[in-house]
Amino acid sequence: MNFIEKWLYIIRNCSFDNTYKMSWAKAITEIACECEFEEQNGNSIEITLESIAHKVIRYYWEQTIFFDLMQSSNINKPPVILSIVKELISSYQTNTGSVKPSKWYTASVENICGVTYQKAIKDIVRILKQDVSYRFLRINGKEIEGIYEYIQKSDYLMIPVQNLKQLKEHSMILFDTINYRWTQMLENFNHSPRLSKKVRIIDEDQVRRKPLGKFNEYLDSENPHKNCFLCGLKIENETPAIDHVIPWSYLYSDDLWNLVFAHQSCNSSKSNIIPSEKMINRLEKRNIRMLQTLNDQGKKDKHISELKMAIEHNLLRKFWISCQG
Ligand SMILES: [Zn+2]
Repeated sequence: MNFIEKWLYIIRNCSFDNTYKMSWAKAITEIACECEFEEQNGNSIEITLESIAHKVIRYYWEQTIFFDLMQSSNINKPPVILSIVKELISSYQTNTGSVKPSKWYTASVENICGVTYQKAIKDIVRILKQDVSYRFLRINGKEIEGIYEYIQKSDYLMIPVQNLKQLKEHSMILFDTINYRWTQMLENFNHSPRLSKKVRIIDEDQVRRKPLGKFNEYLDSENPHKNCFLCGLKIENETPAIDHVIPWSYLYSDDLWNLVFAHQSCNSSKSNIIPSEKMINRLEKRNIRMLQTLNDQGKKDKHISELKMAIEHNLLRKFWISCQG
């Protein structure tokens, strides 16, 4: 096997207990892409575990702050890196006073969290040393040779220049393979839909949350007095918020059958909580009423046919059941 074949072999065959190895492979590939290569073939380049940790923390940040994905099969014992990232997120939210998810690159976590961030990096380096650096090279008890040199407990690995060049040259296909494998792993412990999109999001500059204004007219036709779906009171003296009853972080999609008017304050206080069955019952009834009203008005379009399909296929209840894990 040549180097790239070996690298792919590891990605395809490594164990499924958690997703660390995928984050490790992705970080090293990303670092290869950033290399300028002044060294000659035959030499090796030092990659510090700290530089890997800076990337790993970002992957878990994005997947957690937006989608709260599970990264291992054991609910009671989440991977340590995930717990570190969750603590960092909560420190970030405390410091900014906002629970609104932010992409890593716009969040300036390093500045906002300061010492907590430095500590998180240190802790992640420790986990990478103990659990990932040398284990990554072992498949079914055998070490794959010729990838990189790592002396146990050291702070860096040495990787031959020609290997890094290969990683850079094949990076597009490698990122796809790593993301695919990461998605496969997540499918084992997450019931959340659209996982491959949620994984791919790490690579994009922004998570596009589309404006919901286009749904106003539909919601308005069934609820012209603008009662808040969450507390039941009339929404006065403010623009109604449009709320996702099943959280957006779970569906990663805006669907009329899942959207309601709410007070701004009711909407922002609820964040990512899974709705009660009572609320689902009410929403089912609301959807039937809304479809009836829209039909009576003679309206026809994509959103209305999706609403009809969702009612016929019981989508709301199915997603509600599955998001409880
Ligand atoms: Zn309300």
